[in-house]
Amino acid sequence: MNNHDTIVAISTPQGIGAMAIIRMSGSRALEIVCALSQKSSFSPRYATLSAIYDGVGDLVDEVIVIYFKAPHSYTREDVCEIQCHGGLVSAQMILQLCLQAGARLAYAGEFSKRAFLSGRIDFSQVNAIARLIQSKSEHMTKVLARQLKGELGEFVEEVREGLLGLLAHSEVMIDYSEEDIPTDIAANITLQLDGLKNRLQRVYDFSSMRQGLVEGYRLCIIGKPNVGKSSVLNAILLYDRAIISPIAGTTRDTIEESIQVSGHCIRLIDTAGIRETQDTIESLGIQKSLQAAKESDIILAVFDTSREFEAEDKEILALLEASKNQHCIIVLNKNDLPQKMDTKAFSHSCNFPYQAISINAKDTQDCAYQIKEILSAILQEDQAGSEVLLTSLGQMQALKATIESLQEALRVWETLELELFSYHITDAIQAISSITHPYEISEMFDKMFGEFCLGK
Ligand code: GDP
Repeated sequence: MNNHDTIVAISTPQGIGAMAIIRMSGSRALEIVCALSQKSSFSPRYATLSAIYDGVGDLVDEVIVIYFKAPHSYTREDVCEIQCHGGLVSAQMILQLCLQAGARLAYAGEFSKRAFLSGRIDFSQVNAIARLIQSKSEHMTKVLARQLKGELGEFVEEVREGLLGLLAHSEVMIDYSEEDIPTDIAANITLQLDGLKNRLQRVYDFSSMRQGLVEGYRLCIIGKPNVGKSSVLNAILLYDRAIISPIAGTTRDTIEESIQVSGHCIRLIDTAGIRETQDTIESLGIQKSLQAAKESDIILAVFDTSREFEAEDKEILALLEASKNQHCIIVLNKNDLPQKMDTKAFSHSCNFPYQAISINAKDTQDCAYQIKEILSAILQEDQAGSEVLLTSLGQMQALKATIESLQEALRVWETLELELFSYHITDAIQAISSITHPYEISEMFDKMFGEFCLGK
């Protein structure tokens, strides 16, 4: 693989459609498009109506060519985009002509790789592009679009700048004896470090709580046997199927199905296993519920109000009480049957935040409507706002490692162990940098020599 090759690919899905786009990047991109269109040049950033001819001069298609002159392109190389007619043949023929004229077929992700290597985008933007393509909800798309625009990159840059400043201070002071370090500088560094650590912790906590916005919210339905869990699940899914197109590729047999509520993706965690263990509900059944609850963002606990409140129901309530990080929805089911559950006494037993609805799961439409209304209200509270949001496990791990290194740095700063302090700050810089682009030691030198007048 040669980074100086001119690469080409069809960027749009192949098949029947109004248009297709062939993208070419590299030093020969313009020359190749000029040869195929029998033109001498194209004005950068203009959509130019053109024709594409094959090797014997026959017209292949009428197209629009847009030329992005280096470095003002996605890859920072010369890029030409050919918009041709969609369908199965035209784009393929033009692609073949580009290959014959000297371009090479691009590898998967190679345009983005070039964009990254040329410094046009950072890791966080690469991540955003990859996920944006697969985004399953409007909210996820919006969060990723912000990341693509560079919001996360700016945040990382700001943190790096702060840390590099601290590192430079420390490196300078290593040469001083302990008594010579001005106390106001020492106090100021503690303050800065503490502020930075708290800021990062806020972003981490916020991102942990909002992963549902990115990954889709995980919802599990729990309850003892026969309370109506499957009926509720079916009501949500069937209603959803009837109104909103289903997410392809999911089946009831596998672990998850997804629905859309107010622009959010909700992944239903199947707790079917609970039903299989009716005889041992206290042991395995409850354990499965516990596991499902732990893995979810929203717990939908179903109770049968046509039966007395029983020990198993109590266990479910205890489980909800223990689930502090999840939204709890209590579904009082079978309200069409004679009621035996004392719902007042029941609500007194609920010593945790929850929202409740009373339904008859057999009335599919009303059941689905009520559940979606309540979900919609819960998700409304969970908007991303203007806070920075991490969108991948790797980013979360990087931030966690940064915070841990800062904690260590704070600890050794108190005893003015400057070399250890520098070591932990360097670790922190490396960890935070892995979100966007690797840290180089020369940056610290630049900072050190750029900002300090050492006078020696
Ligand atoms: P699960 O074991 O908790 O999944 O419960 P199911 O959904 O399989 O329901 C158990 C039984 O209760 C089935 O016969 C359902 O038809 C019935 N059922 C579920 N919800 C209701 C309801 O709201 N009203 C009535 N009358 N029957 C219901």
